[in-house]
Amino acid sequence: MALIVQKYGGSSVADTDSITRVARRIVETKKAGNDVAVVVSAMGDTTDDLIDQAMSIDSNPPAREMDMLMTAGERISMSLLAIAIHAAGLHAYSFTGSQAGFLTDAQFGTAHIKAVKPKRVRRALDKGCVAIAAGFQGVNEGGDATTLGRGGSDTSAAALAVALGADICEIYTDVDGIFTADPRIVPTAKRIPSIDYESMLEMASCGSKVLALRCVEYAQRFRMPLHVRSSFSHRVGTLIVPDGVDPASLPNLG
Ligand code: ASP
Ligand code: MG
Repeated sequence: MALIVQKYGGSSVADTDSITRVARRIVETKKAGNDVAVVVSAMGDTTDDLIDQAMSIDSNPPAREMDMLMTAGERISMSLLAIAIHAAGLHAYSFTGSQAGFLTDAQFGTAHIKAVKPKRVRRALDKGCVAIAAGFQGVNEGGDATTLGRGGSDTSAAALAVALGADICEIYTDVDGIFTADPRIVPTAKRIPSIDYESMLEMASCGSKVLALRCVEYAQRFRMPLHVRSSFSHRVGTLIVPDGVDPASLPNLG
């Protein structure tokens, strides 16, 4: 049995129909005999909308309050996803960043993860349930909610996968993996079947928006395989694996 961390980005959970679709996919993965821990982003443009609301009140809002505000987005998606998994017939627990054990420094808006202690996530998995953690958020030493920087849910997923000793961290998005150019703009762009961390880091630092840079750095440091793929198809996406690991040996490639 494999332990799989699945991260679903905002475009994969943009509305309640999408959340139901993602829930079915999680249930499928679980019923195929895997343990599944999920990291979820806020629905669609929720984070942007929350920021706009704050800015319409004050163009220089307090950083602590902005983080408190932004963490609300992932609370909505994680609890709706847990409800959708229940509706699809399995038990699921959602956890805030703090409950899931993401401990960060105190840098509001761009906090770094210092440690992940996912006791409650582990307990939910051990009970045979799906565990869902809010992406992009943690808690600092003072107990305040922090956020990891825009697009930070990818990093949450890699960090949770490492802390749980997962077999793979799957990053679900709206394209079939990493392409030689943005397939939404360049129709002749080709999917890259597998790539090493170094080349992926280069692409991420050159502005490829598919994966957050810190997620790749985290995965590289701990040799955690990543699989970037679409939540809208079952095609295999792009595998990012450490030297010496056969991509074909990884779980859930269907
Ligand atoms: N919801 C946050 C953002 O839009 C985090 C993420 O999506 O990864 O930046
Ligand atoms: Mg987002």
